[in-house]
Amino acid sequence: MQDCIFCKINKKEMPSYTIYEDDFVRVFLDIHPSTNGDCLIIPKKHIVTIDDVDEELMLDILKVIKKMRTFLKEKLDCDGLTIVQNNDYGQEVKHFHIHLTPRYLKDGLQHTFNKDHLVNPEDVYNQITN
Ligand code: AMP
Ligand code: ZN
Repeated sequence: MQDCIFCKINKKEMPSYTIYEDDFVRVFLDIHPSTNGDCLIIPKKHIVTIDDVDEELMLDILKVIKKMRTFLKEKLDCDGLTIVQNNDYGQEVKHFHIHLTPRYLKDGLQHTFNKDHLVNPEDVYNQITN
């Protein structure tokens, strides 16, 4: 994909702080980090949402995520790891990626979903199961 910034990073046409790469995936630091070590894991091939991720790739990604958790813990002494992945709405970059956000005690990071408009779980359950 010509205009995709993450494809450009994969082709090294754009710089990145890559901290891990193999034949299938790359992990690099997010340019606007939420915490120290906030990074993204992306496939080397251009795909857009989770719908396009086949099982083989998902397994590769999962293995690297587990590896990165150990790595980030060792290197940054983080206290946790939060994993987030946006599809379509909420997805700024249309190249599949998963946010790996190291967590630290008292980092103050809160997820930004608006809890004021929470619906009744029973209503949603009925909507989903009917
Ligand atoms: P999302 O909203 O889930 O699509 O997240 C896209 C993420 O990509 C954001 O956290 C951005 O800060 C990050 N990002 C955008 N451009 C770059 C870049 N050139 N290098 C590293 N991270 C980037
Ligand atoms: Zn791409």
